[in-house]
Amino acid sequence: MAESPRCDVAIVGAGIAGSALALALSGQGLSVVLIEAQPPDGGQLPAGLELEDFDPRVVALNPRSRALLAQWGAWQGIEDYRSCAYRHMTVWDADGTGAIEFDCSDVGASALGHIVENRALVRSLFARLQACADVRLLAPERLRACSRDAAGEMLLELESGSRLQAGLLVAADGANSRVRELLEFRTREWDYGHHAIVATVQLEHDHQATAWQRFLSTGPLALLPLPGGARRHCCSLVWSVDSARVEALMGLETTEFCQALGRAFEERLGRVLACSRRHAFPLRQRHAVDYIKPGVALVADAAHTIHPLAGQGINLGLQDVAVLAEELLRAWQRGEAPGSPAVLKRYQRRRKGENLAMMVAMDGFKRLFEQPALPLRWLRNAGMRGVDRARPLKQRLMEKAMGVATHD
Ligand SMILES: Cc1cc2nc3c(=O)[nH]c(=O)nc-3n(C[C@H](O)[C@H](O)[C@H](O)COP(=O)(O)OP(=O)(O)OC[C@H]3O[C@@H](n4cnc5c(N)ncnc54)[C@H](O)[C@@H]3O)c2cc1C
Repeated sequence: MAESPRCDVAIVGAGIAGSALALALSGQGLSVVLIEAQPPDGGQLPAGLELEDFDPRVVALNPRSRALLAQWGAWQGIEDYRSCAYRHMTVWDADGTGAIEFDCSDVGASALGHIVENRALVRSLFARLQACADVRLLAPERLRACSRDAAGEMLLELESGSRLQAGLLVAADGANSRVRELLEFRTREWDYGHHAIVATVQLEHDHQATAWQRFLSTGPLALLPLPGGARRHCCSLVWSVDSARVEALMGLETTEFCQALGRAFEERLGRVLACSRRHAFPLRQRHAVDYIKPGVALVADAAHTIHPLAGQGINLGLQDVAVLAEELLRAWQRGEAPGSPAVLKRYQRRRKGENLAMMVAMDGFKRLFEQPALPLRWLRNAGMRGVDRARPLKQRLMEKAMGVATHD
């Protein structure tokens, strides 16, 4: 039988994390194969600023993620297309007077982060990958089966019937990772009991380069600023609602939905004038007990999914990518095999604790704001006002969210 082609690293999933990892590893002498289920999307990105021209899925990238994308050569493509810097963040409690204001000037930065459309991010990573001769893209293609042979090589069987041999297999295939399932990684997971309703909306007033978040007892509601200048006032909506309410909200006529959203948002930016097609995603917290097995590593959503209330999902995922790439390249230069347990253990040690801490914090926030009991409501409102006045603590929180905290 003919021997299967071999690569040093096979990455399953060419979303944000998988594409970024392939880019981070390229140009260092490693051969990389990137396997993606969807066909490559070669069409032009919309240049218009109508509601349906925006990708309803956006991410709030913190300065650390932006710096990583710049290092991998993918930030320029996003800048050339479009993104929206947010300089301010306003968070308030629907059940009281507690509020916190964050401003980039408090930490001497020019922005707290950037809102970027998912497809623009993936497209920019892909554009850079085209120039990488050492990265081979197989798309559309799916992983069907995988195993590890006696010599420690990963053997991959693909849906098309072709086979591949790899020194390391990386799962970047998202929240419902097939690699994680095939290789029987254990996870701890629970349903948040929330769905996120995602859409693009047009508001009466300017968003003021501010990320707005109101905590309701039914879940947090966020409006994130989009590019469009003073004329359009477009924002990306991420409205987390308990699963009992999602169907009713999704079933409303557009005008009724806009009115319900306006009321839920206290019309802080005036009336909601229009809304694009809505999408609803179930929200689940999931954390792999281990990120590694011999010859295999999980990254980003394949390793952890987190409530979007603090917009940290892919920010943590890109940090996984950066650390894994750093450990693999250091090992490669020393002549160590990329899939060796010592290399992978270093990756897991550096990432798991930080991801877990963020997940626990987000879960705590979500639960705290769901509590109807008066003493707890009083406490959290007083706490918010206290944090707002405690400048060093506020700076610390901002630096953590921005990915620029120097110590924990
Ligand atoms: C409503 C919402 C709002 C969010 N907002 C933010 C935010 O503001 N900031 C933030 O940091 N994060 C945010 N997140 C999280 C963020 O979207 C995710 O963390 C991120 O998209 C995960 O990227 P990924 O590359 O790991 O996975 P994915 O984006 O899911 O990519 C996985 C890729 O793998 C491919 N694939 C799957 N199975 C296979 C297979 N068997 N074979 C080959 N390919 C396969 C898929 O086609 C896909 O291209 C949000 C999430 C939600 C739901």
